[in-house]
Amino acid sequence: MLIPSLIVHGGAGDMPIAEHADYLAGCRVAFEAGWRLLERGESALNAVEAAVRSMEDNPIFDAGVGSVLNSEGEIELDAMIMDGAQLDLGAVAAVRGIANPITLARRIMEDSGHNMLVGSGARQYAARIGMRLCSQAELTVPREVARFREYQKTTVKKQQQLADGHDTVGAVAIDRFGNIAAATSTGGMAFKLPGRVGDSPLVGSGAYADNLTGGASATGHGEFIMRVLLSKTATDAVGSGMTAQEAAEHAIAVLKRRVNGKAGIIVVDQQGRVGFAHNTPHMAVAWRSPISGEVQVYLQPDAAQIQE
Ligand code: ASP
Repeated sequence: MLIPSLIVHGGAGDMPIAEHADYLAGCRVAFEAGWRLLERGESALNAVEAAVRSMEDNPIFDAGVGSVLNSEGEIELDAMIMDGAQLDLGAVAAVRGIANPITLARRIMEDSGHNMLVGSGARQYAARIGMRLCSQAELTVPREVARFREYQKTTVKKQQQLADGHDTVGAVAIDRFGNIAAATSTGGMAFKLPGRVGDSPLVGSGAYADNLTGGASATGHGEFIMRVLLSKTATDAVGSGMTAQEAAEHAIAVLKRRVNGKAGIIVVDQQGRVGFAHNTPHMAVAWRSPISGEVQVYLQPDAAQIQE
């Protein structure tokens, strides 16, 4: 039996200082929601789903309630979950009116006979399996309405700056049986075009999990992340013998070198070591120290972990 391990993230970007404490608290609560399950012997899949649901329910993050608005003032959500034991996955893209898209992604993986459903088809499937549908208003928070109003009033250049927020959430775990799972959920990029799908629900980009190598979940500018299959790049790196930390740094270095992208990534390797790296000003992360057993949180840049 292995000692389980879990790492969660609450996005990588330029987080306003006034909100740092909320990001860290949200990551800690999400970590604990997942860890509780791992500790009592539940699967890595259950743990990553629980951790991500906790962040989808927390309005500070760009996932579930609190998601960013698109260019029409609507919320469209992307999410994926991957089971490294079976190399199985479930994903939803551009779905509206679902409070916990990660749970819908899991049901798609386990029950639909498909891997990915998008838009109205994903919502119809949710209704068919009895998941609660919600209104856009239930997912919308005043902070994002204010941001959208500002966006409508400003120039194109300023609009790009306003869109520069990356608070996607994700979790990666290994359970005591050595099963690895990864999950990612997001409202995507603010003011995106309707129908835009980012990296988060794309296998190998927003997440990847393989019991034979490791697991990863990414966050950041999806248009760049998907070009280098950031999560698969990281799990391939652990497969080739790197530690989780080395693999995270390697993946961000590849992203920077090949497409000049900005992102963050969390990684778990087969031995249960965790790692993370980012080349954004901040990245919100929580994990558990294997030595002290204490929950650790991180947000501020540290020269050792940033690949400029
Ligand atoms: N990766 C997400 C996307 O491009 C955004 C984020 O990480 O915040 O949709």
